[in-house]
Amino acid sequence: MSEEHRTVHPEGNGTTRESPMRTRARRTAARTSTGLAVVALMHIILAPNAAAKHGGSGIEPDNSGQYFQKYHLNSAANKASNHGKAQLERTKISTHWTDKWTDVRLRDWWGNKGNADYFGWARCEKKNWWNGKCDKILVFFNEYRMNGRTAAQWRSLGCHEIGHTGNLGHRGPGSKPFCPDSNTNSCMQTYLTTSGWPQKLDNHDIKAVNAKL
Ligand SMILES: [Zn+2]
Repeated sequence: MSEEHRTVHPEGNGTTRESPMRTRARRTAARTSTGLAVVALMHIILAPNAAAKHGGSGIEPDNSGQYFQKYHLNSAANKASNHGKAQLERTKISTHWTDKWTDVRLRDWWGNKGNADYFGWARCEKKNWWNGKCDKILVFFNEYRMNGRTAAQWRSLGCHEIGHTGNLGHRGPGSKPFCPDSNTNSCMQTYLTTSGWPQKLDNHDIKAVNAKL
């Protein structure tokens, strides 16, 4: 995977480095993969109560002002990022753009093997040693897997992956622990394909983000 990574991004920096965290995350991904419908996220548990009552853990940001960097995104991923950021902005987290990787890097991925089944994923790349919260988060958009998808489906993915950066886990069928969502109107559904690609955070999501800040 890392070799392929370097091939795609010869200008890549530390993100191409194989870390123990990455290795663990990939193993986790392999275990949870159940087929093409899976939208995978690396669920890194950063605190015992992170994302309680919200279908497992998202990634706990280390502050409520999050700076997002776009990193080699194609046009579709670019627009999806704008949408996802705007959705997170509906919570108490304030969001900003930057050209540096200070908090969240939103990056492209052309995964035709390895993580090819995943539309996208998010993971903590660097935790604070003093509180276990996440300093640097990586969000991947699989432009290979999403190739040809509609703008609405891209918005759903943007909302979903950036929702994870606000410490949101999954909702609905497939969420672990199970978190019911009878409306299936949250973009945090485990399976976007079978839930109609919801494009927004719902009120439950927003409350969950705010409760954890
Ligand atoms: Zn997810």
